[in-house]
Amino acid sequence: MYIVWLLLFQSLIAFILVTTNVNGLEWTQYHNLDEIYEWSNELEDRFSPFVTVYTMGYSYEKRPIKAIKISSRSGNQAIFIESSIHAIEWISSAVSTCFFNNLLNSNDTNLQDLLLHYDWFLVPVMNPDGFVYTHEVNRWWRKNRKPTGVSNATGPCYGTDLNRNFNYEWSKSGYQINDPCDHWYHGAAPDTEPEILALQNFINGFPDNYIRLYLALHSYGNFVLLPYGHTIEIFPPNYDQMMRIAQGFAEAALVRYNTTFKYGASGLLNYSGYVSGDAKDWAYGMKNIPFAATIELRDSGHYGFLLPADQIIEVCNEFTDGMVGLIKAAEKETILIPKI
Ligand SMILES: [Zn+2]
Repeated sequence: MYIVWLLLFQSLIAFILVTTNVNGLEWTQYHNLDEIYEWSNELEDRFSPFVTVYTMGYSYEKRPIKAIKISSRSGNQAIFIESSIHAIEWISSAVSTCFFNNLLNSNDTNLQDLLLHYDWFLVPVMNPDGFVYTHEVNRWWRKNRKPTGVSNATGPCYGTDLNRNFNYEWSKSGYQINDPCDHWYHGAAPDTEPEILALQNFINGFPDNYIRLYLALHSYGNFVLLPYGHTIEIFPPNYDQMMRIAQGFAEAALVRYNTTFKYGASGLLNYSGYVSGDAKDWAYGMKNIPFAATIELRDSGHYGFLLPADQIIEVCNEFTDGMVGLIKAAEKETILIPKI
């Protein structure tokens, strides 16, 4: 059996290496939702049965929320990545798709090992309605686009901050985000938004302990933010272990361009203060995924949310380096155990 999948995997690598132009994305510009989804479907067409595209559910405006899975064999543990839950943070989906492209196209043995040893999931655009809105109407939009039913002087107020709406210590940050017209509005109650319910249903469909790492990509600030976001009075049971894994990311991501990532509980580090009801805390606190983090990509504030597209490749490179370091550290801590 081992020989069979090894041969199959080697043929996948050989196939990938001769098929250089595998997709329609270029990471020299930011792409819209249609282009990202077209690229996803093309990956599935080219790399079936190793790549599968799922529709996890639909956004408020009925756009599909897609997840891409790469699996070279059965029995692997899984790593889950999501991006563009905040519509304004374009670099997050640019880098997550670029990273998947690196995984599938690299002749670097470190990345080939990652491809062989783990199942990979990517939700490139968690918030498709908001993402489309930033491309077509307002570059500065953050939330989804579901009407709140409340109006202010500017008219009806739309949208909930999806990364404040998860049902784990929801509304416990002490930071008032209960104004439906606020950019950080956390919703009228936890788990009200169709986008995060789609994600939760999808993840709930997998066996316990299958997903071992959960990474939410955001910008900006260059941080690896660990649970918890809502308090610094208590820390997660394996906080020291998560810190060592985050250190693995930061040390590896530093090498190429000298980009410094700070790491620690998001309640300690997040520039916007406490956060509650976010995806990483839900993944850790409700789903018992033993390493969960929000990774805030470049930069440290010069361009902020409007990071120029000519930095995408560099951010992708340092993220890819960081992931290799993070996974080595997670293996050392036996949070990840590669199948032999
Ligand atoms: Zn964000």
